[in-house]
Amino acid sequence: MPQKHKVSLIPGDGIGPEVTLATQKIIDATGVNIEWEICEAGAKVFKKGLGTGVPRETVDSIIRNKVALKGPLETPVGFGEKSANVTLRKMFDTYGNIRPISEFAGINTPYSGRGIDIVIVRENVEDLYAGIEHMQSPGVAQCLKLISRKGCEKIIRLAFEFARSEGRKMVHCATKANIMKATEGLMKRTFEEIAKEYPDIESHHIIVDNCAHQMVKKPEQFDVIVTTNMNGDILSDLGSALIGGLGFAPGANIGDQFSIFEAVHGSAPKYAGKNVINPTAVLLSGVMMLRHLGEFEAAKLIDNALLTTLAADKVLTRDIVGDTGAASTTQYTDAIIGNLGKMYSEYKDRNYHPIKMPHIRQDQDFVRVSKRGVNGIDLFIETDKPVVQFAKELELAAANSTMKLKMISSRGVRVYPAEQGATPDLTDSFSCRFVSKEIHTDVKDADIIHLLQKVEPHVRWSHIEKLNEFDGVAGYSKSHGED
Ligand code: NAP
Repeated sequence: MPQKHKVSLIPGDGIGPEVTLATQKIIDATGVNIEWEICEAGAKVFKKGLGTGVPRETVDSIIRNKVALKGPLETPVGFGEKSANVTLRKMFDTYGNIRPISEFAGINTPYSGRGIDIVIVRENVEDLYAGIEHMQSPGVAQCLKLISRKGCEKIIRLAFEFARSEGRKMVHCATKANIMKATEGLMKRTFEEIAKEYPDIESHHIIVDNCAHQMVKKPEQFDVIVTTNMNGDILSDLGSALIGGLGFAPGANIGDQFSIFEAVHGSAPKYAGKNVINPTAVLLSGVMMLRHLGEFEAAKLIDNALLTTLAADKVLTRDIVGDTGAASTTQYTDAIIGNLGKMYSEYKDRNYHPIKMPHIRQDQDFVRVSKRGVNGIDLFIETDKPVVQFAKELELAAANSTMKLKMISSRGVRVYPAEQGATPDLTDSFSCRFVSKEIHTDVKDADIIHLLQKVEPHVRWSHIEKLNEFDGVAGYSKSHGED
């Protein structure tokens, strides 16, 4: 008797119901024993007035089943709602987004024959996608890019473990550590440390812009690429274009307890209900789900039936061949079902193993320090006064404070004291760096409150950042032009 699995199935919006139904039919036809629990999320739910887009019953179903297959969810623009996709990823802490990009026999692209076989392992819950945004002033917006040591360690270990589970030999880490030394730099430093624990796998760091360039120039050089959230989002869409488009780009959101499988693409509303869309990306997400459930034989059956359909039978959907001669979504689905059991001669069997999920300490204070200090503050203000005028006012305001004004910057560039000849364009928002007058003297909260009271009659302030020092290392960046 085959093992029975229960899976939450979210058909989703737009083309979602068509592509998930195709996937469900093909998976069922392999003979695996899956009980599908159909759940709602997305546009319909938003329209009913539920701001999260994910009803309680759907959350309960995923909690019970631990595994979900999800169609794309539309994010209505202009309603002020958060994306239901991002809500689901965060709610179930599916911190790893695994996105394979492989060449398909039968799909002709400018890269055909080069053997593209990349997996992007994208951090899924941190970075700019935490969506913590504020207007600093009427004219300047801010988005916080939060990256944790724990988050880096989890995604990097997952990338190495995933590489092992598929017998892959190389992991690149793509970051912008040269510019964002604290955030992207944390990812790079963590990668370099953790890589030493996986001596069987070759490891390299690459700057993300060069990674994009190399992916277009010579994509076959990559195996696994681990990266931060936004980098991974962009690189994986780029990668999908190399192998035939979003119709062929599957994905898995993996966490310690829950996994949600979904394609990279969205709800493509203009194709909804037309029976023309390519269901392969969701089908391959379903294949990843089968491997996750330990159903390796069923996964292999579908892989081979798909390749036979594409390469041997040349049954192709509209996105590949255009309107003339294209198979409809249902014809394509039936062709794959008809080919279940046929092996494709060039199928590359990877000898898959289950992923060994990395064990990471749960402690909140994941990084402990023995010494800490506060060297000053960055005070973010709004003003339309000329820089020299408000700088003098701030210097006077700080006269009786334990801190002095060191410099003022506008969007990261020093504007006071001004650099000779430099004329950066100004906005109404500035960051004013105040540092302790006495070197090696800690700034206290009372000093900060005192300074704020003195400053407040001259400029509007929106927030402060403490200039923390941890174990003797400054925990803040310098502005461009700051000495
Ligand atoms: P999209 O739905 O991915 O569609 C963009 C284009 O990609 C389509 O117009 C089509 O290209 C092609 N495409 C997408 N899926 C395809 C498939 N299965 N087969 C063949 N071609 C496919 O992106 P979007 O139009 O930017 O977003 C629409 C909605 O989806 C938005 O509300 C967005 O927020 C949401 N979204 C959801 C997810 C998710 O649920 N994970 C992800 C991304 C976007 P052609 O026009 O060239 O035919």
